[in-house]
Amino acid sequence: MGTVRKKLVIGNWKMNGSLEKTKLLVEGLCAELQGLDLAGFGVCPPFPYLAQAASLIGEGALALGAQNLSAEPQGAYTGEVSAAMLKDVGCSFVLVGHSERRSLYGETDEIVVAKLKAALGQGLQPVLCVGETLAERESGQAELVVGTQLGAAVHGLGVESMSRLVVAYEPVWAIGTGKTATPEEAQAMHAYIRNCLQNCGVDAASVSILYGGSVNAANADGLFAQKDIDGALVGGASLEVSGFLMICKAAVRS
Ligand code: PEP
Repeated sequence: MGTVRKKLVIGNWKMNGSLEKTKLLVEGLCAELQGLDLAGFGVCPPFPYLAQAASLIGEGALALGAQNLSAEPQGAYTGEVSAAMLKDVGCSFVLVGHSERRSLYGETDEIVVAKLKAALGQGLQPVLCVGETLAERESGQAELVVGTQLGAAVHGLGVESMSRLVVAYEPVWAIGTGKTATPEEAQAMHAYIRNCLQNCGVDAASVSILYGGSVNAANADGLFAQKDIDGALVGGASLEVSGFLMICKAAVRS
């Protein structure tokens, strides 16, 4: 019997929200997601709202994650937040290497690997984000780019640790643009990612590979029907309870 990977839907709020919005979203989602245990769900509020979200979630069916972390454990790193702090306020996972971190804040594969290590060292599950730009796709480099990003993680962490990661394939040209990869395009890259992992000796069947890039209620079913798409990392559509819920429910029925 093959490995059954439970679908996972994660909301990345990016730099959006307030105390009031956190309460609205978290309470609304927890109320509606209770008992829907055929899939897993998570949210990544901005740092200042993590502790508030943790206390609102309580025993609810939402995992709490952060959008970023420092590679350093503690000390004189003004403005940074460590893996231990995230754990302390109730996070169970953290996004690492989101394309906005890579493109706007200069995160290289080397930095990404250091952050993955820091997260794993504190027992936080990293969601490693990979993906190519439009120019890279149009010049036929998409697989090379994604393969290099993945290879850096395998090389830096070792094969054993890779099975503790979730991978999110997020083509940069689809993030926040309203352009989604077609289910077939996304499936092709997900299969490629799973193959790369398998070829490196990772137990690839046990690794969840999420798709991210303008996922919404209208396109979620088509994406989730693909055999190597194990859920979604959702930006814009995670900022309203009703829109995010529709994606969660698509994951449950897929
Ligand atoms: C993201 O930020 O990870 C993302 C996928 O954003 P959006 O859904 O808005 O494209």
